[in-house]
Amino acid sequence: MKSNFKILALSITALLSVQWSSLKEAGDISIAERRKFERSSNAVIEKKIDDLLSQMTLEEKIGQMTQINNSAIVTNANWGSGTDLSITIKVDTAKLGKILRKYHVGSFLNGIAVPAETWYKFYKEIQEFNMKTSRLKIPIIYGIDHMHGPNYLDGGTIFPHALNTAATYNNQFPADMAHVTAIETADLGHQWLFAPVLDVARTPLWGRYYETLGESPYVSATMGSIFVKTVQTDPDIAPYKIAASAKHFLSYSEPKYGWDRSPIDISEQTLYEIHVPSFRAAIEAGIKTVMINSGELNGEPVHGSYRILTTLLRDELKFKGVAVTDWEDIIRLYKNHKTAANEKDATFQAINAGVDVAMTPYTTDFCDHLKALVKEGKISKERIDLSVSRILRLKLELGLFENPYPRNDRFKRIGSPENRAKALEAARESIVLMKNEGALPLSAGATILVAGPVANSKNALAGGWTLQWQTTDDKIFPKDMLTLYTALQKEFTAANVSLAANANEIKDKAASASAIIVAVGEMAYAEGYGSIQDISLPDDQIELVKAAQATGKPVILVMIGGRPRVITKIYKDCKAALFAGLPGFEGGQAIAEIISGKVNPSAKMSFNFPYAVNRLVPHNHKTSEVALAHEINNPIALVPFGTGLSYTTFTYSNLKLSDSVLTSNKSEIKATVTVKNTGGRDGKEAVLWFLFDEVASLSRPVRDLKYYEKQLIKAGESKEFSFTIKPDTHLWFPNKVDEKILEDGYFTLTVGNLKTRFKLARK
Ligand code: BGC
Repeated sequence: MKSNFKILALSITALLSVQWSSLKEAGDISIAERRKFERSSNAVIEKKIDDLLSQMTLEEKIGQMTQINNSAIVTNANWGSGTDLSITIKVDTAKLGKILRKYHVGSFLNGIAVPAETWYKFYKEIQEFNMKTSRLKIPIIYGIDHMHGPNYLDGGTIFPHALNTAATYNNQFPADMAHVTAIETADLGHQWLFAPVLDVARTPLWGRYYETLGESPYVSATMGSIFVKTVQTDPDIAPYKIAASAKHFLSYSEPKYGWDRSPIDISEQTLYEIHVPSFRAAIEAGIKTVMINSGELNGEPVHGSYRILTTLLRDELKFKGVAVTDWEDIIRLYKNHKTAANEKDATFQAINAGVDVAMTPYTTDFCDHLKALVKEGKISKERIDLSVSRILRLKLELGLFENPYPRNDRFKRIGSPENRAKALEAARESIVLMKNEGALPLSAGATILVAGPVANSKNALAGGWTLQWQTTDDKIFPKDMLTLYTALQKEFTAANVSLAANANEIKDKAASASAIIVAVGEMAYAEGYGSIQDISLPDDQIELVKAAQATGKPVILVMIGGRPRVITKIYKDCKAALFAGLPGFEGGQAIAEIISGKVNPSAKMSFNFPYAVNRLVPHNHKTSEVALAHEINNPIALVPFGTGLSYTTFTYSNLKLSDSVLTSNKSEIKATVTVKNTGGRDGKEAVLWFLFDEVASLSRPVRDLKYYEKQLIKAGESKEFSFTIKPDTHLWFPNKVDEKILEDGYFTLTVGNLKTRFKLARK
């Protein structure tokens, strides 16, 4: 076995050496042309880049292309894996000295939620050390995963995760989250933000489902680019600036069997239709960096793919910024994907494909390999200069050269009541009322029995990437953070709210309860740790709900977790159900306020909540997906994408089109609909507009969200909503080479329960 492997390894090496001489480093476009195209209009910055490049040694240049984990430069190397947030971080100057002065490393990353003052001192120390010893005074840049607010900062404001943000259908919230993240972290040197996740949700088997903005490419593109623009241009963090990172380019969210970082096999057409739009929108919004998908796409690891990282990202999408690898992914080219025989080959593949920065992240071996490749003439100096020019431009545009040091005089902004109010509002609008047979809201005097494994958990509400990467221990959460149980005690009369630890206690305590709330779902996890064997709600939780139902009391189901779990067996006998998702630190309060009726729910599903385990089908599936008669009667979704209830009722009427025919690519139709609040209380309604292309040369999704808008409608009031349909924006679809296909014919427009048709008929 071993010797066979050796032969394979040798032949891969032989193959690679042939490729080394024949592969073009920059495809059809020369590196010089690429450099020219990427130059900005800021002559001062461009001159500085040219000056620096002319003075830098090869080692200094390669150092700029290297990103190292913080554990490599501190004495307590397990920083990040422990649960001690008050840890004193001691920089190991010997290690830092070697990394900075022998390898000239230009970037570090990662963290846990230590206090602001700890971050400040740590960053000040490493940046000062760097600036003192850097021959050309090139500042370092620090990268960090603040995924839902400043989650790696003690005392920071924690927003709902992205799957919840999408369910708000309110563009205020991605902007609020971006702004709060910026003002709470930019002063600490956190200027390279590894967010937003622009992968589109495709399978809930994947443990990173909750990091996405749901399954609509349109929502992901819209909210993602709002986040990017806000965080990158926030005036309130002056003199600092933040660079966002669109991740993970490209199609990471569609692993064939659901496992994280595993192969993706999809058509090129799907790639362009589903996965490209959010990244394209972020690039158009000026995103400065992109992080690469750790998986392999159609047989090719993305980190080694010239086609994805250069032809598509640079030539087709016109991205001019920095492309950073994901964690250890160059090494994985030979360790996991086996497309390289060793780390040096892997380095060649990745650089040749288009990588600018290697998140190595533990060693500087990358620097040695890249240097050898340049010395051997396998990678040109111009290719190195191309990446380094991008990295220097990033640092210059962020103002790091003028303002390299952090500051500690604005810490009062961290976790301020104003910021927390924004996170609470986002949580309130992100919780979907799936079902309500008159059980909710509960009256003020209700006696409530609360049960379920996530009922009294903080980490379940917050999810992974909170305070730590794998969030486990509730003890590290803020004392004043409420769980669902403690929030209900606060919202109702505390003495009327009690906890049942198991089915027996439910049985014993049910008699005095007017309702039983069972909170089911998942404890926190991140990345591969979120892989599950079975998308059904675990048996013990199903049994717990059944035990509650057996008491005859009204059962209210609250689902907390980063994805749907199949609950069809117990759903019918629940009197009400909420999908709370991962609503963040203010989530307990938000759920309790919905249960009490203080808040009128207004979220709508950001994905198709599955009906059955073999039907993990997104809303924008193809018509032929369910063409067989015996299938048609089986619902795909228990709760479809774009639906969610309110405590009031909304009636849609008067759907009108300004015209029924579009006669050119530039013509427009304005669609209007009247939405009346026909219930007894004020409520917000998100109006979602879907299109269906009735006959097309390529099969089209049964419905595709094209526009949404949310407004407050007072009880009894009517409001008009509109959507202007433009052929060039809304009616085309991409083919497998990303050409815009726009075809004459009929389109169905759906809004609420109303439908109409119009025609594209060009002369
Ligand atoms: C994740 C990225 C993250 C990086 C740095 C990786 O494991 O896939 O999303 O930005 O780690 O922490």
